[in-house]
Amino acid sequence: MITAYIGLGSNLGNPEEQIRDAVKQIEKIDDCALTAISSLYFSKPMGPQDQPDYMNAVAEVQTELSAIKLLDALQRIENSAGRVRKDNRWGPRVLDLDILLYGESTINTERLIVPHYGLKEREFVLIPLYEIIPSLILPSGESIAMLCNNIDANGLKIHSKLR
Ligand code: ATP
Ligand code: MG
Ligand code: MG
Repeated sequence: MITAYIGLGSNLGNPEEQIRDAVKQIEKIDDCALTAISSLYFSKPMGPQDQPDYMNAVAEVQTELSAIKLLDALQRIENSAGRVRKDNRWGPRVLDLDILLYGESTINTERLIVPHYGLKEREFVLIPLYEIIPSLILPSGESIAMLCNNIDANGLKIHSKLR
């Protein structure tokens, strides 16, 4: 059994509804149990600023799935939410589900980079991660507490509880 962390994000349509719905879909993935969920946060977009603000959250799961099977399941949920893949990175999207951490694993393949390459620079994943597991140490040896201490919150704020 592996403990994995999933970053959820949305800024198109009804982000709150899409994230709440994605949490329900994650709960339904076979061989995967949702064990913790952060609050729902408001955040500012990365990259292009001419797009709506985001909502983000982080989920903790315990899973028997391999990392790639977990990615498959998450991409099916993204697709069923109506995500259309475009070339412009960091553009607006109805739902983004990223694997932030997969146990202690370090993965570097074409389809999957774990820990997520943006983890340490993104306040909207570090701060919700800290909310659910303040004692977390990354595979690099860095603590989530130290990373959160040193990051600009960039206006990140709690919107509501997810459960
Ligand atoms: P970013 O990766 O900067 O957060 P994004 O989430 O918008 O941008 P996507 O369009 O969702 O990027 O994903 C592009 C590709 O990234 C996916 O098809 C997937 O194969 C790959 N990828 C690599 N590592 C991961 C990961 N840890 N979690 C999810 N997708 C990943
Ligand atoms: Mg992403
Ligand atoms: Mg993604």
